[in-house]
Amino acid sequence: MRLSLIVPCFNEQEALPILYRECTAVLAGMDCDYELLLVDDGSQDGTLAVMKELAEKDSRVTYLSLSRNFGKESAMYAGLCNADGDYVGVLDADMQDPPSLLPEMLAILQGGEYDCVATRRVTRAGEPPVRSWFARLFYRIINRISETPIVDGARDFRLMTRDMAQAVVSMSEYNRFSKGIFSWVGFRTRWLAYDNVERVAGETKWSFWSLLKYALNGVISFSQAPLSFVSLFGLFMTAFSFIMLVFVVVRKLIFGDPVAGWASTICVIIFIGGLQLFCLGIIAQYLSKTYMETKRRPHYIISETNSQKATKIK
Ligand code: UDP
Ligand code: MG
Repeated sequence: MRLSLIVPCFNEQEALPILYRECTAVLAGMDCDYELLLVDDGSQDGTLAVMKELAEKDSRVTYLSLSRNFGKESAMYAGLCNADGDYVGVLDADMQDPPSLLPEMLAILQGGEYDCVATRRVTRAGEPPVRSWFARLFYRIINRISETPIVDGARDFRLMTRDMAQAVVSMSEYNRFSKGIFSWVGFRTRWLAYDNVERVAGETKWSFWSLLKYALNGVISFSQAPLSFVSLFGLFMTAFSFIMLVFVVVRKLIFGDPVAGWASTICVIIFIGGLQLFCLGIIAQYLSKTYMETKRRPHYIISETNSQKATKIK
């Protein structure tokens, strides 16, 4: 029985040694063989050097260094494509995903009742309040418009069976939104809740805008509701314009032709123009994602690794 633990790392030279120490301490107390799959997502600091150092003294450490920063989603995908354990796990390098939960997670999987143990944080302590508010709003909206349930506060920290990991790899879409993908593949998932932990070193790679972009990507990847909204809206506006037409004709027939109303006409034209551009913008978002999907660019490119069997481009 072998466990593969994937750790996506982007500029984590300070956090990585701490994670390694904690993880190996926890894993030493567990009765299983394991590999640590460290994915360097094009770090600009000494992350790769730290990985090489760890790999040198510990043969259970495998590193995959991507040719540039591809983003966490791609780094995780690279890990999943190259993990060969019977159980596969993903955890962050910054200790926000406590390795101390691993024994409990593995025990649940080995019980055979579940295929996946996922984690969610139930508090958001240490996070700016505005960010938490937007995060809550995002989960409310996406769960209303998407058929795939997206759990509020879900982390990418999870342990799953090989079958589930392969199912996730088989979803080879370019615009990856893992919270949705993990949910979409199904399987029996057990959720563990824990309080938010702040990162041990370094700082978060997510700005408010990058989170917003990520949230929009999630909506577009897992819901077509915005497109239905656009068509419904068009239908509604057409019906409304017919009513207005009748109103204008009747008024003309009864009251003659009062030439007033230039200002309101211009307002209506601008209003409709704005709405049309907005709706076009929604469609354009779907189109641009489709455009990227059709290009079929690789998800990641590995430039350096100590693994002989790694798939270097996928
Ligand atoms: N990460 C990555 N590529 C990126 C950004 C982040 O591999 O482009 C990794 C990062 O090193 C960390 C994990 O993804 O291990 C989560 O990142 P972070 O802690 O910045 O996100 P947060 O916990 O604030 O959501
Ligand atoms: Mg973090």
